[in-house]
Amino acid sequence: MRRVFPFLLIVLLLAGCGGRSAPTTPHGRTMAYAPSKAETRQCYAELRRIGVAFTPLPDRNRGHSCSTIGTVRLDNIGVPVSNLGAMRCGLAEAFTEWVRNAVAPAAYQMLGSQLVKVETYGTYACRDTVGTANAKLSGHAIANAVDVAAFDLADGRRISVLDDWHSSDAQVRGFMAMIHTSACKRFGTVLSPDYNYAHRNHFHLEDDHADFCR
Ligand SMILES: [Zn+2]
Repeated sequence: MRRVFPFLLIVLLLAGCGGRSAPTTPHGRTMAYAPSKAETRQCYAELRRIGVAFTPLPDRNRGHSCSTIGTVRLDNIGVPVSNLGAMRCGLAEAFTEWVRNAVAPAAYQMLGSQLVKVETYGTYACRDTVGTANAKLSGHAIANAVDVAAFDLADGRRISVLDDWHSSDAQVRGFMAMIHTSACKRFGTVLSPDYNYAHRNHFHLEDDHADFCR
């Protein structure tokens, strides 16, 4: 096993999509902290406390600076979510609370219908950031980001970032604005269609404590 990791806090290489300054590796990539085993255990307890069904996943280094450390698979958060893979536990917790306490209530209150599904483009992917001049290792490469594409409602409507971020319907625009604002309070990096063309069709939500909201 790769026992070196619990003893080195600054091991993993991370960059969000923002222009933040942070320590870099000799390869110019931004560094991030890996969660300790104690932090991950505490996070599991928190997920159980809020009634989330999940499966802890084994820690893996996957080459090219990519890894899945301290991750879970969310099995049931109360609302079906498509395409979720490995997620760092802290990301999984923030995502669950955002869906439950922001997206679902906003759908009901502002759009008058129940949220029945959240569509995502996934979580873990070993790749660099996209759409920026200086590509860096993506938060997805350490399973610390999720891309959210659309929301399905009980009345049959599908509200997508691509089609509805600039909706002609003021209620729909208000819904998008509200869940975006809420995401910025819960995630370190939030990227929307306002950030760049690469994000025209999804919200990038990353648990990196970066305070970067676009
Ligand atoms: Zn993303």
